[in-house]
Amino acid sequence: MNENILNPHYSELPESYLFSTVARKLADYKASHPGAEVIKLGIGDVTTPLVPAVLEAMHKAVDEMGERSTFRGYGPEQGYGFLREAVARGEYAPRKVEISPEEVFISDGSKCDVANFQELFSADARVAVPDPVYPVYLDSNLMAGRRAVLMPARAENGFQPEVPHEKVDVIYLCSPNNPTGTVLTRETLERFVSYALKNGSIILFDAAYSAYIRDEKLVHSIYEIPGAKHCAVEFRSFSKTAGFTGVRCAVTTVPKELEKLRKMWFRRQSTKFNGACYIVQRAAEAVYSEAGWPQIKAVIDGYMANAAMIREGLAQCGYTVYGGEHAPYIWWKLPAGEKSFDFFDRLLNSCEVVGTPGSGFGACGEGYFRLTAFGETAATKRALERIRDRLK
Ligand code: PLP
Repeated sequence: MNENILNPHYSELPESYLFSTVARKLADYKASHPGAEVIKLGIGDVTTPLVPAVLEAMHKAVDEMGERSTFRGYGPEQGYGFLREAVARGEYAPRKVEISPEEVFISDGSKCDVANFQELFSADARVAVPDPVYPVYLDSNLMAGRRAVLMPARAENGFQPEVPHEKVDVIYLCSPNNPTGTVLTRETLERFVSYALKNGSIILFDAAYSAYIRDEKLVHSIYEIPGAKHCAVEFRSFSKTAGFTGVRCAVTTVPKELEKLRKMWFRRQSTKFNGACYIVQRAAEAVYSEAGWPQIKAVIDGYMANAAMIREGLAQCGYTVYGGEHAPYIWWKLPAGEKSFDFFDRLLNSCEVVGTPGSGFGACGEGYFRLTAFGETAATKRALERIRDRLK
């Protein structure tokens, strides 16, 4: 093969994707310690099964697919109207945000949407990404040949990234943040919206964990900030809200105020994507049903009880921790000078507990470690006991 035909930007990516590196280290440990009971509080994947209302809707949709009169083939590229309406009603109306079904796009995941959305911008668009953050924003732009300006989010500033000093065109924000578990304040969001309006920039707001926000006064949707409909696109996912990591369904909202972008996203999706599965969209609709929402909330409450247990457990051992109050992530400050990948090995070897090294989320994540609240409660409790008794 002539290697000159390959996209040269792939060689600029970090050697391997964060979670692949973690998975390889774990596999090596297990190979050399057969029978070890390793507790995984690393990758952000849910463990609680789908709730009954969702399952029931799914079963019903499966049966429909088995009857000629109710069978469905290709669906609307933007998603079925019933789900787009349910999202407008279930996600936005309670926050007093007016979003119409035409502004809602259904897909099979937020990861692909946040990674694909940059295609709508020119190759030389200047991009700003928080540090630390979910690595997909940076990597997808690197693949497209764009370098990003980093916006540091540190403990000293409450993990609120600063508005870029230079002019940028596209700004990624993530709230509640993965990995720090902190929520962007209304003031921070107002600063970003005002910057974007002034500079003609677009904010790509990832709200994958908004269902975990416990305080109703905190901002759940960027559209709660005046002016945001003129400068922001929002991503929401059923993955962490409703345990759909294996089912796959998400929402991207592009307001009519950004009509050119909305039309471009429609064009992009209808060219490269053929819609999310009908059965899955019926399952997602049930999340907002009278029976479904309380069931979903109970699952989230369970994860947040784990988060509180981790926060308190580590604090009792004298560690400094952040996050975990409005997000399923706990951001653990490591002893001064310890590198997060070294700590990964120390924790695995002494406690057989796996977490995620903070440096994998950006340079400002160095010196931190992410634990997730998605584990089973009994296993999470055991992990904390091991940390208390065996971490050295
Ligand atoms: N956005 C953030 C901030 C995430 O942490 C994740 C998954 O971990 C995603 C998006 C991906 O969500 P989905 O499962 O819908 O692809």
